[in-house]
Amino acid sequence: MSLRMSAKKGEAIELPIVRSIADLRSAIALRRAAGESIGLVPTMGALHEGHLALVRASCSGMDCTVATVLVNPLQFSPDEDFESYPRNEAGDAAMLSEAGADLLYAPAIEEIYPEGFSTKVEVTGLTDVLCGAFRPVHFSGVATVVTKLFLQALPDAAFFGEKDYQQVLVVRRLVRDLDIPIHIEMVPTVREADGLALSSRNAYLTAEERAVAPKLYATLNEMAMAIRKGNAIAETIAIGEAALREAGFRSIDYLDVRDPETLARVEVSGRPARIFAAVHLGKARLIDNLAIPG
Ligand code: AMP
Repeated sequence: MSLRMSAKKGEAIELPIVRSIADLRSAIALRRAAGESIGLVPTMGALHEGHLALVRASCSGMDCTVATVLVNPLQFSPDEDFESYPRNEAGDAAMLSEAGADLLYAPAIEEIYPEGFSTKVEVTGLTDVLCGAFRPVHFSGVATVVTKLFLQALPDAAFFGEKDYQQVLVVRRLVRDLDIPIHIEMVPTVREADGLALSSRNAYLTAEERAVAPKLYATLNEMAMAIRKGNAIAETIAIGEAALREAGFRSIDYLDVRDPETLARVEVSGRPARIFAAVHLGKARLIDNLAIPG
């Protein structure tokens, strides 16, 4: 049971957990009837302060915050970590309660993908590059589950993290293209004191790998400063790749400078641009991205 204190009365409140679409809709209907706005925070659980920043952003703007926890099989390739992905519902519920969420939606996989499920949501173009080029089923899995969660909860706004910047663009495109009237809010990346972006997959790192991991963000910062100073982008990427290999990253899926809206490659400095990286370290695949200041 997850308890938090009522701000008004100082009494313990249990975070309600719903597991079916019908119960989710009933709980939200009660809030709607009371005139409340609804914020949705989709997650795969194993929560950390990055996820809680989304919950807090929702709580600060919306009357009712619904967090979802579902390890979504559709967004994992067969060779990826679906089975071993960390799961801790009790811990997640306690953290959500503490952060101020009003409801946890934690459906079983069969509730979301019943026998015979055969529909996919596919956002083209934006998903051809970066993570989409290395994780072929990933974004269609994300787009499909996010569309379902949106239609199940019908929130006013949904909150996503800047750490998964490409995902935010994909979700913004799908709500625009499918005329889904939900505002998509992007929340800044939460980092450890040494710069490593918080991620549920950081749990895969050994102590030695954990010491190497912050060099990813440090390298992105150095690259951003070099490009801002006018250094050539191609050369800066080559230097960045060499720095990552030297630091001990096992392999680099991509290290790229791209347009923040279209994700097209940016080849000359002075334009709006963002650096995107995905690297492997031990069993973990780490991603990060950073705006190049104008
Ligand atoms: P996940 O559970 O990894 O699917 O992430 C759920 C949501 O939390 C996504 O919108 C992520 O972008 C967001 N998120 C994950 N890590 C962070 C972080 N370090 N800072 C901000 N948001 C994050």
